[in-house]
Amino acid sequence: MYEQIVQELVEPGTVRRFLGERTRCRYCGASGPGVFGKRSNAHTLPAALGNRTLFSLDECRACNDKFSLYEDALCKAVGPFLTLGGVRGRSGVRKTGKTGSTSTVRHSVFEGKRRLSIRSEGDAEMVGVDQSTGMLNITMPIEGDVFVPRYAYKALMKIGLSMLPTEELPMFRKAIASLANLETEPHCGPMQVGFSYAFVDNAPPALAGTLLRRSDVRAHVPYMLFLLMAGSVCFQIWLRSDDQDADVPEVGRLGIRFNAQLPKPEGGHLPISYCDPIQFDWSELTPKLQPFRAFQLTFDPQTTEGSLTPIPRV
Ligand SMILES: [Zn+2]
Repeated sequence: MYEQIVQELVEPGTVRRFLGERTRCRYCGASGPGVFGKRSNAHTLPAALGNRTLFSLDECRACNDKFSLYEDALCKAVGPFLTLGGVRGRSGVRKTGKTGSTSTVRHSVFEGKRRLSIRSEGDAEMVGVDQSTGMLNITMPIEGDVFVPRYAYKALMKIGLSMLPTEELPMFRKAIASLANLETEPHCGPMQVGFSYAFVDNAPPALAGTLLRRSDVRAHVPYMLFLLMAGSVCFQIWLRSDDQDADVPEVGRLGIRFNAQLPKPEGGHLPISYCDPIQFDWSELTPKLQPFRAFQLTFDPQTTEGSLTPIPRV
């Protein structure tokens, strides 16, 4: 029902690449000398998610400044995952939780090995042993950051729009125009996000943006879907078109199960499957705490194998 029309990959060791042309800004239409800044001014995928090599030439400086607020919200929304996955942003790996708050997660590298330290105060921390399996369960509360859901949604929209082939752009005028003002609603109805995750040991700093276009013209399904994979997390949204989605009913859920091959630092690739997507509606403008209240670590003391599961806030 869908065909993949674009995929942009960023992996460690890839050469710098530039999308678009310096003729006019894709978003506000500005043109002329001086509006664009350095060639590496606008990151196509957020630098905080680990992008060092993919840049957009057709995003002006003024738009880039504005969009950084959207991207900041997106990174705050998944802050605990970035810490656990060890994604290096502009200033190293993020730390989740403010100094002085009741819980913090830190990431460090010690003698070449990644190490996480989790600190929690008060009575929120729970440790238990499952008597039947002998597995150790540790619940680690995550205070995390506050983010504006609509901004985070618009960050995903913007990244999808930055990758659209130019011939598609006239069908997305409304979405593009909504980026100009932080609070503007891009469309009516919920601002739905499908969010999935996978935990891999040493999650590699790999990113992929993928656009999927409806291939059956008669199908009443979204015209364009955008998927963003960033190491251990994966997002999907319905990138709404001005005129191609008129007969499409609101979708119940965005449920594409995504599998990927992530590059390993030592070479080769690691297969990874993301979980069934959790559904968020990110239409609110009121700042909210990031969507997960804790991680549960299940750990086998015999084999030292373990898994981490995020626990959503209810
Ligand atoms: Zn612009």
